[in-house]
Amino acid sequence: MLKIGYLEMDSPLVVISPNNGSDEMCNFNGSAGLILVGSFNLDQVSLSEVKKAIEVVNADSPMGFSMTGSNRESLTEAAELAAGGGYLLDIECTGGSHLDEVADQVRVAKISGATVSVSFRPEALGDERMVARKLKEAGADLIHLDLTRTGNGRGKVIKRFSDSGGPKIMAQYDVANFDDAELLLSMGADLIALNGKTDPEFASWLSEALKTLEDLIGWYNAPKHICSGGDLRGLAFCCLPVKNCPIMGALRKLNITPRDFAEIKMELARGTPLEHGDGTCFGSLVWCCKITKPCFMRDAVLDRIGLSPRDYMKLKKKLAKDILTS
Ligand code: SF4
Ligand code: SF4
Repeated sequence: MLKIGYLEMDSPLVVISPNNGSDEMCNFNGSAGLILVGSFNLDQVSLSEVKKAIEVVNADSPMGFSMTGSNRESLTEAAELAAGGGYLLDIECTGGSHLDEVADQVRVAKISGATVSVSFRPEALGDERMVARKLKEAGADLIHLDLTRTGNGRGKVIKRFSDSGGPKIMAQYDVANFDDAELLLSMGADLIALNGKTDPEFASWLSEALKTLEDLIGWYNAPKHICSGGDLRGLAFCCLPVKNCPIMGALRKLNITPRDFAEIKMELARGTPLEHGDGTCFGSLVWCCKITKPCFMRDAVLDRIGLSPRDYMKLKKKLAKDILTS
């Protein structure tokens, strides 16, 4: 379902173990796409203790560990442990962390070939665009955003990081129901991290619900439409830009004109099933809405050309990626 570095996850749900690992984490086997243990201060804890904590959990799911520490040598050893075991190395930013130092840690860890995430509270490292850019340049595979105390602004925080074009996003939040999860995902989170004190039955249910969503619509973290507050990936669902609506602000962020946007989108659709669309608002599926918005005109075209709703959304997912990298 998801590949980040060498990690292959069958669910976007991550569970973070309390108390540096515990055999109770086995309760999340089969539901968590990834189990993260820690955090370990490598200035105080030996790597053998990290290994032991991973072995205690003994999960079927992919695993990772969080660490802090200022020592370059122990960071290199931790990265080698991660790369050798196929674990995620989660570098945790402490109160006084500086972005350039963190980026340097990422570069050091990447030399060993580890898949690396950087964990921080949204306000900890400064301007989101700068953070996303520098961490991506340094080679980080994942941004681990701790949103547990962010409150109602959490969706907008994720959207700002997502729109900055940085690494993939793991949003840590005390998700209590499907709507909480959907909000994080629809704003650009790729993974959701739950506290290990979460009820395993709830985690299992949520994980299954997200897998079902992926099976049904082919894009488990599909964005909202731009006019509903979605992130820039939502441009894949935008109409032909012929009126003054929130698309104008989104295009300004990308520094492209409405005319260029129209040409880019038509060019990207050329030769794909999205070119079809007789009877839709703008004559092509490339301008059509998210599948969860009911529309008999779009659905009639999908029926006529034999394109399933799931494959339609997969094409929109690719379209979103191509628009943002064009
Ligand atoms: S172009 Fe259409 S979908 Fe996009 S923001 Fe405007 S009204 Fe919404
Ligand atoms: S035809 Fe339906 S799906 Fe397509 S743009 Fe119009 S309202 Fe949206």
